[in-house]
Order: sequence, then C-alpha cells, then structure tokens
Amino acid sequence: MQKIRSGTVAALLLGSIFTPLPAAAAPSRSEAIREAALQDSVAWDFVEGLTTEVGPRPAGTPQEARAREWAVAKLKRLGFANVRAEPYRMSVWLRGKDEAHVTAPFPQRLVLAALGNSASTPDRGIEAELVYFPTLAALEAAPDGSLKGKIAFVSHSMTATQDGSSYGYFGATRRQGPSIASRKGAAAILIRSIGTDHHRQAHSGIQMWADGVKPIPAAALSIPDADQLIRILARGQSVRLHLTLTSRVLKDQPSGNVIAELPGNDPRAGIVIAACHLDSWDQGTGAIDDASGCGIVAAAALHAAKAGPLRRTIRILMAGAEEVGGDGGRAYFAAHAAEPHALVMESDFGADRVWRVDYKLPAGHEGLASRISAALAPLGIAQSLAAAGGGSDIEPLVKAGIPVIDLQQDGTRYFDIHHTADDTLDKVDRGQLQQNVSAWAVALFETANTQESLGIK
Ligand code: ZN
Ligand code: ZN
Repeated sequence: MQKIRSGTVAALLLGSIFTPLPAAAAPSRSEAIREAALQDSVAWDFVEGLTTEVGPRPAGTPQEARAREWAVAKLKRLGFANVRAEPYRMSVWLRGKDEAHVTAPFPQRLVLAALGNSASTPDRGIEAELVYFPTLAALEAAPDGSLKGKIAFVSHSMTATQDGSSYGYFGATRRQGPSIASRKGAAAILIRSIGTDHHRQAHSGIQMWADGVKPIPAAALSIPDADQLIRILARGQSVRLHLTLTSRVLKDQPSGNVIAELPGNDPRAGIVIAACHLDSWDQGTGAIDDASGCGIVAAAALHAAKAGPLRRTIRILMAGAEEVGGDGGRAYFAAHAAEPHALVMESDFGADRVWRVDYKLPAGHEGLASRISAALAPLGIAQSLAAAGGGSDIEPLVKAGIPVIDLQQDGTRYFDIHHTADDTLDKVDRGQLQQNVSAWAVALFETANTQESLGIK
C-alpha cells in the first residue's frame, strides 16, 4: 500500500472511517509504575554487585554464606524491613577434578563437567570401553547387566525454544540417565550437555540417584565434544576412555534463605511472595541463574511500593540451595507454611524479556488478571491460556494451593549459557533486565493492593 504523506490528504481519505483519538487520559498508577521501572538501575546494580563481589555461590559453601551476608546488607541499604537470613543445614557435593581422554583409537582430551551428586572415581581415574546410545530411550532398552564395566554415553537433540519447554523433555537424560545406566551395570555415564550452544563448555546440573541405585561417576560433555565422540564412534572401532571425576560430599553444612519485606498496612490481607535463588553453579558467576532474578524481584518490589502504602506485605524470598534440589524452598515452607500467603511469584529464567503472562488465580479474580494483562501489554507481553505453575523455590507453596502468576521470560538463548562457565554478567542485556523489572513492578503493585481476596479468608 502507498504511504500517505500529507496530513490533509490523510484526513480527507481517512476522516470518514476513523474516529479521532480521545484526549489522552492521565496514566493509571500501574502505568506510571511501569514507565518509572523501565528506567530502573537497582536490578543491574544488584546483579553486577553480587556477581562481582561474591562470584560463584555453590549451595552450602562459604561462598553461598558470603552471598547471604551480601544480600542482607544490600537489602537493608535499599530500605527493606525485617531483613534476615534464615539458616538450615544440608549435605553438600563438591566438584574435584573433571578430566576425560579418549585413549583409543584416537587419543585426545575431551571437555566435560561432573553432574551434581556424581560418584567419585579413584584419583588415578578409570579406563573403560564406551557404549553409545543416541537417546535416553535407547539406554533404557539396553538389557540389564549389558553395560557391566563400560562407560555409557547418551546423546539427544535438544534445540532452543522460546518457552524453554525442551529442557523438561531433554533434561530427563541428565535427571534419569545416571540412575538407569547404574541399574544396567555401567561403570560411569557421560551425557551430551543439556544445552543449545556450540561452545566448548559443559553444562552442569543436579541429578538425584533413584532409590536403591549405586552412585556412579556421571558427567556432561560439551556439545562439540559429544559430536566429536559420535564421529569417532562412527569409524566403527572400539572406543576407550580414561575418566577422572573426583568429588566429595560434606555432611551437615550451613545454608540458608534471605528474607526481606516491604510491609503492608492490612496484615489480614496476606503476603505476596517474590522469589529467586541466591545460590549458583560453581563454574560461572551465576549472573543469569539467578542473580538476575534476585535483582529483578528486589527492584520491582521497591517500584511497586513507591506509589504509596501497600495493602499486602511484599516478601522477597532469596532462596538458598535451589540448584541442588530446592532445600531453601522446602526450608521456607517448613518455617512459614502457616502464614497467610496471598500469592507467589518467582523469577528464575535469566534476564531476557518477559513475553507472556500465565495466571493461576481463584475463581472470580478475572478482573485482577485483566488489569494486570492490560498494564503489561505495552511491554509486548500477552496473556496465555496456560495455567501458571511457579518454579522450584515456591513449589511447596504452589502445591499447597497458593495462587501464582508467572511472568514467562524469553528462553531462546537461556540454554546456551545455563549452568556453564559462560554464565557471567556480560550475558545480561540491561534493557531486557529493566523490562523484567517493569513487568514485575506492575504485577506486584496490582496483587499487593487489589481488594480481591486472593483466597485469604
Ligand atoms: Zn535457577
Ligand atoms: Zn540453575
């Protein structure tokens, strides 16, 4: 279509079809909060500070303890009330040496990282024949005992998706592969990293041994190294590997959650939880996972409260030990389940923009959802038909039936970086981080102030 240049011609042509725009209405409070939060610098300062001054924060380690101290001091300086660490204790798995070499037929080094809870090899390592399975289903189909004394190698074909859903499906190779390989008698297991990049870096992550299964050494190969092994295997000769994965477990170590509040003026209206996790994997500095989430929720809560007194308390939950199984989320629930929780939200999917909002609200709260969705729309965020499900730090609360809203972030590049040495500050896009703060500020403002009950009697 030809572009219309002159205003007069445009008016003549279009005047009969289009009615003039009404005079601009004064912005609503949530619109004003949304626009102010787009200029936020608190979230970036938080992420920059935590990743620079603390760095990696593995659960149950002195590094994680420093993160708690750092967060308590920072949240107090930002003006939060009731700021404190809530300790609990846990077993901690610690990485040692991660090394692998092809010894035959083409000797060369491979890049890999032990998975959380991997058993340790002896210091001198182990050497064994490799058996290749293109999928987890192929490993499952192997006869019992057929892997005795061998190293299982399981690949898969994960690709990036905007909603991150491929992690749930392909992540099963990491979550279940080691237990299945052990049941078949394998001496160790290597998996292709659960990631979508093509860098020579391995993606770590937790895996839990199924009941009664003997732990074996378990590691993820970088994606180029998994491809390299497949090419070597395709030559048809027996492939042998030398593997050194040393690790140790320390029992009864200190971990903890950090709590901070912006108090509301109606204690009977309940609490709105904004959660993230402070711990990270050990290789990077946990910038996207999950310093960003903590920066987003803290900054957004402050913007939500700027417009005046809140009705409900906004409680920030910076959980410990999310990466290794959600100990912090469970400890929070054990300590606070009896308190009136009106709504829970969590940010733990990086720093890229929010593109979708999902709700799980009590019946009769459609008006609240519509108001939030309308205020989010100018940020390019659309309401979905999917029910919100929360994340692992708030999982016990969600299971207990507390209403939840998910601000879904764009996950297209999340699994390029997730749980790798590349999870560093330079991967955080400041503009997209601020869009997150803006979306969160709107959602927290509306849920903390709405007159609807959110299920609180
Ligand atoms: Zn995370
Ligand atoms: Zn993670």
